[in-house]
Amino acid sequence: MKRIAVYGKGGIGKSTISANLSAAFALAGHRVLQIGCDPKHDSTRLLLQGKRLTTVLDYLRITNPLEYRLEDILEEGFAGIGCVEAGGPKPGVGCAGRGIISTFELLEKFKLHDRYGVTVYDVLGDVVCGGFAVPIRREYADTILIVTSGEFMALYAANNILRGIRNYDGTERRVAGLVYNRRNVEGEDEHVARFAAAVGLPICATVPRSDAFSHAERANRTVIEMEADAEVCAIFHRLAAALDGCTLYEAKPLTDEALEETVLGISLEQTPTEAANSGAEPVE
Ligand code: ATP
Ligand code: MG
Repeated sequence: MKRIAVYGKGGIGKSTISANLSAAFALAGHRVLQIGCDPKHDSTRLLLQGKRLTTVLDYLRITNPLEYRLEDILEEGFAGIGCVEAGGPKPGVGCAGRGIISTFELLEKFKLHDRYGVTVYDVLGDVVCGGFAVPIRREYADTILIVTSGEFMALYAANNILRGIRNYDGTERRVAGLVYNRRNVEGEDEHVARFAAAVGLPICATVPRSDAFSHAERANRTVIEMEADAEVCAIFHRLAAALDGCTLYEAKPLTDEALEETVLGISLEQTPTEAANSGAEPVE
């Protein structure tokens, strides 16, 4: 049984990568469950051909507890993948953590995790949010992947996520590594490689910037479903295979100074303008 939590900055590609990874696991013969832990509840859309699920939080609001039925919140999508969306409050109102906590409690009640060999959690990468730690409670996720590009803010978020995991896990080993999702910004291979080395994590997969994702997204499908021969598909199949029994590492976040100086090559004595002119993102 494998339970993988996919973290990363907003918009970095978590849902796309989670859905394609779930699809790869399913095609390798696993029973897969994907749980979207984001109030936007769009994580499983590519697995359900665009269908929007009733979120667990909405369901709990409108349903008598005596009438809870699994089939109301779980839908099977591509290759039989079980899809659930935690949901959450409207933006700016309340904490997304509530949806996630309620979802996990209900899923436990249905003993859902026992029915699936692989669970993929698509998690909001906002560490200040109360929902951050829920999927990484020990009984839920056993493996953590962090998606990042080489952009400053993505690496900053990745480092912050490592801080959140460190606070929760101490020196226990639960991080499989980084998924490097290219944005094709200048110097990013080097920045990601330096970050990975500095935090002592492997780059488990490198996903190129590819139009195949937007083509598939327009059809509300994963690339794996839409274009099985696309080059990027092999990356997800390899990642799924590699995650089976992979080595796990402890979270060793960097200080902000180390991140900026060692990884991004920004001297703290540089002005933001100098930093910008040197090709790196300015530091406030
Ligand atoms: P959010 O934090 O808002 O949930 P996310 O991290 O889940 O965002 P996605 O929705 O998966 O991010 O991706 C954002 C957009 O970037 C999508 O339109 C997706 O198709 C596109 N995208 C992601 N990765 C790639 C890539 N490697 N090449 C091209 N487009 C990509
Ligand atoms: Mg998403």
